[in-house]
Amino acid sequence: MSYYIHPDVLTLKTIADNRWKEPSLHSANSPRTKTPHDAQSLVRLVSNSSWAVQDPYSEPVTRFIKWYRKGQEMDFKSMDNEKLRDELQSYLADIDDLFFFGLLTRKVKGKSGTQKLVLLRVTSEAPKGNYCGAYKMEDEGPSIRIHRYDRQGIIRPFEKFLSTLVHESCHAYLDIFSDTRHSKHQEWVCDYGGHGEMFWVLFRFIMEKIRAYTRSERWERQMKDMEYECVDITKTKGRPGDWGTPARTVMGGFLSPGYA
Ligand SMILES: [Zn+2]
Repeated sequence: MSYYIHPDVLTLKTIADNRWKEPSLHSANSPRTKTPHDAQSLVRLVSNSSWAVQDPYSEPVTRFIKWYRKGQEMDFKSMDNEKLRDELQSYLADIDDLFFFGLLTRKVKGKSGTQKLVLLRVTSEAPKGNYCGAYKMEDEGPSIRIHRYDRQGIIRPFEKFLSTLVHESCHAYLDIFSDTRHSKHQEWVCDYGGHGEMFWVLFRFIMEKIRAYTRSERWERQMKDMEYECVDITKTKGRPGDWGTPARTVMGGFLSPGYA
């Protein structure tokens, strides 16, 4: 199976591989990473060149749809944290393959040997707020933490786990690879506690793709939750319009409804 690898992706791979040795390697000044990659270019790269976009009928997409159905029937309650983590790790790997060029689960040299670029953890601790996951820079490296229970102690449904993995992956991708020197970096990435405009463009783009693949009603509910969350986090900026919408920002105009 072959697919086109955009040259910018090679730059991002170099950055990923040197994450531990040279954490500041995100610069167009470096001879090894010649492409500037502000947050908008990174999002455009996903919307133009990711596997999901290049071939919507490819084997990974078909596999993802099959696994999605399987996930909906899985009994997460009976799994301990380690088993749940393993299951979620496979979903993260799929999301990563389809949308993030395999960068986030790429094996890289870490603090203590080879590890995945972004670590995944599952915790039984109740979250302090109304959230299900968090992306953080830890001593061991960038990490995604998933809270298996909500504040009432009820285990999350599969779709919530999956949409949280997507949400936190968007944080990880923008945090690790965006050129922080770009004049719009603050508003594109950092505003609203890391939920700047490009975060929403990317998050909405991927959520919509998954909706198109799965045609799942329960996924549509996750998309509504995402919109509530956007209004909640950004206050006025969450209203429908061109702020944070993929169609205008990276795809050059509105597409007809139902476009996959
Ligand atoms: Zn977030």
